[in-house]
Amino acid sequence: MLPTHDVPCPHCGAALYSAVSLDDGINPGAVESPDVHVDNAGFYMSCPKCRRRVAMERVGSDQGTYYVRAAPAR
Ligand SMILES: [Zn+2]
Repeated sequence: MLPTHDVPCPHCGAALYSAVSLDDGINPGAVESPDVHVDNAGFYMSCPKCRRRVAMERVGSDQGTYYVRAAPAR
C-alpha cells in the first residue's frame, strides 16, 4: 500500500479525502474517495464539513484518470 495523507479543505481545513503520494491525487480505489462534480466553471467537490465548493482538476496518468485539488485562486 502507498502512504496516504489527508488533503485539507482550503476554506475550513477539514480533511476532504485521503490522497496517495505527493500530488494530492484522489485514490480511485479508496472507499473514502469524494464525489467529483462538474459545472460551467469546471470540476469540483463539496467539502463534507463546510459545504463550500472546492475546485478540482482532472489529471490523466498511466494508472487512469483521477482528480487533484486545484491550486487555490489568488
Ligand atoms: Zn470546508
